[in-house]
Amino acid sequence: MQLPHAPARPLLTAVLLAVGSELTTGETRDTNSGDLAHSLADAGVDVAWIAALPDRLGAVTAALSDALAAADFVTTTGGLGPTPDDLTREAIADVCGEQPAVDPELERWLRHLFERRGIPFPETNLKQAWLIPSSTAIPNDRGTAPGWWVDRPDGRVVVALPGPPSEMRPMWQDWVLPRLRERGLGQERVTRTYRLTGIGESAVAALLGEPLLRAANPIVATYARSEAVDVRISAIAEADRPAAALVDEAETVILTALGQYVWGRDDDTWASVLGRDLADLGWTAALVELGTGGATTRLFGDAPWLKGARTTAADQRGEPGADAPLLDLANLSEQIRRESGASVGLAVRTAESGVDTQVELTLASPSGVREANLTAFLGGAEGRRRAGIHAAAFLHFFLRGEAPAGEVPAGEAPAGEAPAGRTEIEKVSRPAPRSGQ
Ligand code: AMP
Ligand code: MG
Repeated sequence: MQLPHAPARPLLTAVLLAVGSELTTGETRDTNSGDLAHSLADAGVDVAWIAALPDRLGAVTAALSDALAAADFVTTTGGLGPTPDDLTREAIADVCGEQPAVDPELERWLRHLFERRGIPFPETNLKQAWLIPSSTAIPNDRGTAPGWWVDRPDGRVVVALPGPPSEMRPMWQDWVLPRLRERGLGQERVTRTYRLTGIGESAVAALLGEPLLRAANPIVATYARSEAVDVRISAIAEADRPAAALVDEAETVILTALGQYVWGRDDDTWASVLGRDLADLGWTAALVELGTGGATTRLFGDAPWLKGARTTAADQRGEPGADAPLLDLANLSEQIRRESGASVGLAVRTAESGVDTQVELTLASPSGVREANLTAFLGGAEGRRRAGIHAAAFLHFFLRGEAPAGEVPAGEAPAGEAPAGRTEIEKVSRPAPRSGQ
């Protein structure tokens, strides 16, 4: 469908409004805005804000006015149903100062949908055939609510889509997005992420400093994720400098302050990074874990470089192993290395200590055995999960020939003076490598 001619206005900023009292009462989660925000971030659009609104005309009208004053385009989802509480069309008409009227073509289409199913047409549904003079209907192949594309005289755009994600998504993807692109959507944005370990988010922020973290371009942001603290740099081009140059400049500052904690970039995972480290040396690895509930094995997944993995039966069931403290960890790492023919043998043992988790690590390699003792934050399954990350970091920084960030020298934590023990260590059954890998 051809859209009317509109004044040229690049669409660089957006506001997303999710309409429906089911959202403001918490009965339904607003997944639509997250989906749209993701898609817009990919397109280099700056989403100024996202709001969820109840089915109240005044609230929707006020939010639309604010959004149109601030952003180049506004997308609403929800409130396009046939019932009196679905008020998005009325709100848009109010804000535009226009009167809705039944569009004969939409009415024919809508009546036909009901005829097709042999259902009498409820006259209340007629509002789903409404248009205002400045709107164009967005076809909906999966429901009875067409969307609206509204051109404002100043080149701004309002897009209204129905709430059900199964209807909203294809309408956005197949119809709206290509037309927004024709109008000039977003700016080229260069993004780079550094993945850190051995340091908390607040310490990262303190080292980076407020001016860098508050700058508008490039944007430097930190995210505490389960396997890393991520530092993300993103920039758009400025008149005299390309986006990539701005990212490079920020990167230099970040790596100077935090380089020692960096273990990966962008989409790296522990398994992929360790795979690269080992491949650089032409090496493989093997693993023994005790008391971890299998956390390290899970982190490594079915990595092809893991030649052997052993643990206790309890750990295999995801429970902390029973009498694991009786085993000599250095022996175990050397033993698994020899038995599996791997270049390095890593052994991990955890024990709860107060509210945190004690982690013992040993690493047998051609150059001997290294040890580390450290404390993982929190106890229970979360402490054990973090112990797995400490183990991965220990191996990574060893392979790179660097001291692991956050490592406590072996002598500083209580040493486990335990005789070589009795616990039966079992081979971990790992999923068979997928074909073609
Ligand atoms: P509506 O277009 O307001 O009639 O929305 C109909 C249905 O779509 C709701 O009952 C929800 O199940 C779903 N829905 C509405 N808004 C959202 C949203 N923002 N995120 C996810 N689902 C939604
Ligand atoms: Mg609704």
